[in-house]
Amino acid sequence: MASVDSSIWGDIERVRGIIQTKIPSGAIVPCHTEHSHHYMVTTFLGNPVLDSVTTKTGVLSKGYLKDWGIKLAVDHVREKWVDYQGKDEFEREELFVEASGLSDSVRDDAADCGTKIHKVVEDYLEEWIAKKQRPVDIKSFILPEDLIDSRITSASLCAELFFKDHNAYPIYSELLVASLRLKVAGTLDCLAYIEEVKRKGSDTCEHEMWKRAGSNNDNHVIHDCTKCDRKTVHNIELIDFKSSNSIEKPDYILQTSAYHECLRSMTGIKAKNIKILRLDKKKPVYQVGTFDSAKRRKAIKIFTQVSEISDWSKSDDSEFDKKVKKIMQV
Ligand SMILES: [Zn+2]
Repeated sequence: MASVDSSIWGDIERVRGIIQTKIPSGAIVPCHTEHSHHYMVTTFLGNPVLDSVTTKTGVLSKGYLKDWGIKLAVDHVREKWVDYQGKDEFEREELFVEASGLSDSVRDDAADCGTKIHKVVEDYLEEWIAKKQRPVDIKSFILPEDLIDSRITSASLCAELFFKDHNAYPIYSELLVASLRLKVAGTLDCLAYIEEVKRKGSDTCEHEMWKRAGSNNDNHVIHDCTKCDRKTVHNIELIDFKSSNSIEKPDYILQTSAYHECLRSMTGIKAKNIKILRLDKKKPVYQVGTFDSAKRRKAIKIFTQVSEISDWSKSDDSEFDKKVKKIMQV
């Protein structure tokens, strides 16, 4: 039976071919330091080392993190205080040290969990692309020692559910991209064909979906049912997976727009939309934030300025010419 599944792999191979020609393997090499992420781009003149997208957006003040850290520490002291009555000052000091380090340890744990979730989703998508068949169960990609962590299972199931719900197909997972104009590089989570139902067709029809001849360009593929008037379009979209508690963060729009601009400038491939997919760590319910090319263009303008601020703040230009003036003893 004709279906999207039987025809779309030709298009996936074609788009992958374009990307592999323009971004050959080894073109972008991670060279991270302990504190920040950077990439050397060997296909750009002079092999420049560029900051990662998140290193650049790190210059933005994240006031909410500071407020959250303070609240976490105060709540911890408040909760434990009663146990510390009658204890000496050294023991009380331990409580304060514990409270002040709490936000760092919570954040490190969340980052570690996020990395593991990304890896599960990456392995799932990679196998799907390699075998041209969706793996039966995303849980089989979770490491045995991580199966006890329900957050990883829940978030992974969210990703699987999203792909099923949107009749989506992965094109690329974890793709390194860079832009000389934005002076930035980074890893794009996922590029995928995502279904948009243009006409629903008959509910009782057992659809036979055929690719409309000549309908595929680099951005989308159209399929029509031969038995009813169902019409679907699979658009290329850029997906960024987030396992944080909220997607309502403006820096996410800046980051993903920057990844898109890197992809576009290197390969000519444009995504119809960018989707930020929040993978819930408590229950298998995902949340999607979508924005289109108009918002993307605005975000790129802002990102250019953020990039300038980030570079400037690390340069000599952001320092005073210090002169020490000796003051006469008074
Ligand atoms: Zn039909």
